[in-house]
Amino acid sequence: MSIVNNLEKIKNNISENVEIVAVSKTHSPEVLMELYNSGHKVFGENKVQELIEKEQEMPKDIEWHMIGHLQRNKVKYIAPYVHLIHSVDSLRLLNTINKEGEKNNRIISVLFQLHIADEESKFGLNEIDYLQLIEEFNKGEHKFVKVLGVMGMSTFTEDKEQVRDEFKKLKLFFEKGKKLIKESDSFTKISMGMTDDYQIAIEEGSTIVRVGSAIFGSR
Ligand SMILES: *Cc1c(COP(=O)(O)O)cnc(C)c1O
Repeated sequence: MSIVNNLEKIKNNISENVEIVAVSKTHSPEVLMELYNSGHKVFGENKVQELIEKEQEMPKDIEWHMIGHLQRNKVKYIAPYVHLIHSVDSLRLLNTINKEGEKNNRIISVLFQLHIADEESKFGLNEIDYLQLIEEFNKGEHKFVKVLGVMGMSTFTEDKEQVRDEFKKLKLFFEKGKKLIKESDSFTKISMGMTDDYQIAIEEGSTIVRVGSAIFGSR
């Protein structure tokens, strides 16, 4: 099966309202170009260095999504072009993104990443910090940032009911945030679901799935 067919198969099984970010980490620009040439222009990377290299080599109409943990000192490299940062998990990071947005005279779209898994190692805000971050954002000082919604990663487990419960939790966090955040009209996106759980995620309200291995094969 070609990667183009893999993506078609996924598309045919989900609503056209759900956006698919093709998670292309570890794969070469040549491989990504196969998808690009078939018309898919939305790619996700989890490392800044890899994102930079691919962005330089590849066509300029690609939407690059930063889906992995982002260090503040690296924001400047992607600020000129990044389409959506999924992984905002602190006020300091939000401040830096705002500053780099101003320097580049563009408004940078972001999601607030929430910790929904029961694993220690995963990044993300807890509920208290999330509500606090919304409060800070509501002060109106981040003129070069647009907050479009939330992102979360489920626990790596065979227990599908646990995964479903975690996605339900993220949906509730989203709804709570939407009630509180100013400019709530643009707060519309829930980024949840990967290769193993995107179907459950969509059932629970996902609007963006981040799919890697189901498209490109295992890494
Ligand atoms: C790698 C990665 C994905 C995609 O994982 P697959 O299981 O290959 O679909 C999604 N989101 C994040 C944050 C990732 O790092």
